[in-house]
Amino acid sequence: MSADAIPSTRLRAPLQKQLNSISSDCTQCGLCVRECAFLEKYGDPKKMADNYSADSSFHLGLAFECSLCGLCAAVCPHQLNPETMFLEMRRETVDRGAADYPEHKGLLNYERRGTSKSYSWYSLPADCDTIFFPGCALTGSRPQQTLKTFELLQQRLPTIGIVLDCCTKPSHDLGREDYFYAMFGEMKAYLQQQGIKTVLVACPNCYQVFTEYAPDFRTLTVYEQLAEMNLPAVEMAESTKINIHDPCVARFSVGMQDAVRDLARKQGLTIEESKHHRQTTLCCGEGGAVGAMAPELAKSWTEKRASESTDRTLTYCAACSHKLSDHRPTSHILDMVLEPAAALNDKSKVSKAPMTYWNRIKVKRQIQKQHHAAVTRERTFTADNASNSGAWGKVALLALVVAAIVAVRTTGAMEYLEQERLRELIAGYGLIAPLVYMAIFCLAPVLLLPGLPIGIAGAILFGPIWGVIYTITSATVGAGLAFLVSRYLARDWIESKLNSPRWRQLDEKVELHGWKMVAFTRLIPLFPFNLLNYAFGLTKVKFSHYLVASFIFMLPGTIAFITFSSSLLELIRGEISPTFLTGFALMLLMSALPLIHRRYQSSKQKIRTTTRT
Ligand code: SF4
Ligand code: SF4
Repeated sequence: MSADAIPSTRLRAPLQKQLNSISSDCTQCGLCVRECAFLEKYGDPKKMADNYSADSSFHLGLAFECSLCGLCAAVCPHQLNPETMFLEMRRETVDRGAADYPEHKGLLNYERRGTSKSYSWYSLPADCDTIFFPGCALTGSRPQQTLKTFELLQQRLPTIGIVLDCCTKPSHDLGREDYFYAMFGEMKAYLQQQGIKTVLVACPNCYQVFTEYAPDFRTLTVYEQLAEMNLPAVEMAESTKINIHDPCVARFSVGMQDAVRDLARKQGLTIEESKHHRQTTLCCGEGGAVGAMAPELAKSWTEKRASESTDRTLTYCAACSHKLSDHRPTSHILDMVLEPAAALNDKSKVSKAPMTYWNRIKVKRQIQKQHHAAVTRERTFTADNASNSGAWGKVALLALVVAAIVAVRTTGAMEYLEQERLRELIAGYGLIAPLVYMAIFCLAPVLLLPGLPIGIAGAILFGPIWGVIYTITSATVGAGLAFLVSRYLARDWIESKLNSPRWRQLDEKVELHGWKMVAFTRLIPLFPFNLLNYAFGLTKVKFSHYLVASFIFMLPGTIAFITFSSSLLELIRGEISPTFLTGFALMLLMSALPLIHRRYQSSKQKIRTTTRT
């Protein structure tokens, strides 16, 4: 044991309470020690409570070798719960800034992805008060089973929604209390705001988090729902024996345990219980992320569990299924319910990392395509330092854009926007003049520069055909750049302010129909082009919709303007060319569009008023 120079301060009150309780009530009977390799290695709970010192890096790291499986609490004759003491020890380590273990990086990245904008998806239909929360592990390892389960739940509850997100149990178990409360709290508040009352989970870890930290919700498992449904039973050629592994987080969840056994029996399976089951079940080796810090302890849990039966193992946690399948044939209950023949022949479609990440994106896309939702969201909230680095990135970009705008306006560069000078400047580049022209046009919307003189210069230099091609391409790219700048800088902030369901619904509508707004404002340019680009970036309109609509609906105006402008020099010389006449006619038509639109709107209004009266 090496005592390090970590400043000694008072312990956090919850840890002190746990240490006092174990120290005074543990009789050192050894019952828990006999069950647990971790306690066997380091001593009984009382010994560990009495010896604990937050000044020692050894003690600060010790609790990360406990699986947080709760078996000690299940066997203790005095109803003590050493697991809580070890969790509080982990929190103490985090609180002292001593828990930055590189071994946990992988798990935390996994969790961060689960809560990220790319992986998360909330899809809530109208009148939805119940959601299916499949969790990260099931969605990644069993995308088809996840979607099929959702389909079955929809048959029973037509207005059920689905939430693809992470419950942040990894952070909870790693003692990152503040992060966990911030992340889970934000999710809980959002769901409450949307009127959600019931959560159906598939993962026992999610179940534990929701029941403990969101008691206002009614949390049930999909297994209880499926057990109540009349799913087609399967005729087994002969009675197949299976051994059920209860995940350690579900040791006290009798309803979940019964439902899984019920489902197994309905499939014609014969259940053989192992020595450790239900309340006294063993950890599969995944618990508490022990594998990262003490792989030998994690391995001993897995081997102990696997050695308790020679039958096929059936479990209801995707992580347990993955862990135990290295030692003996193991199925998830959803494999067995949805595709029993495949499950019994080890042919279930189950993926491993890195495919699991891709599967989660696939499930998200499938839900986006098929599920009719009134409210959707991708999660943008983050409570960790990553958000600070994001904030610094935003500040840097904002500073860069502002500095560029100020520089252009204060250094005399604006003088080059005088049409003739600009034309000379671009023409001076010879063969690469089109590229220079397009580069200037692309940057103009971001720097809020007027497009008119640039467009005229391009029209005169390149003529009506190439002028249109260069201009529409660069104007679309420029509009896209300005859109991306504002979306990156301020969309998250705007989204965090849209708290009321009414605003949120409006925002969702913009996402679906925003392209029409883009089309209208591009075709009838009543609003300044440069400001519109930035404004659209703040809405939820899809970037692809925005770009395509901008290109298509800016095209008529660009053709009219470039055709007209390309003949300006001839006009100054007193020549009226066919190009000028065509351009002039097109310009007249484009200028008449707002008038035509206004007339159309007022006639529509009149018809409405007449119908009402
Ligand atoms: S929670 Fe599990 S691993 Fe931790 S001390 Fe108790 S029995 Fe051992
Ligand atoms: S079972 Fe309870 S009393 Fe016995 S050693 Fe463990 S914590 Fe102490």
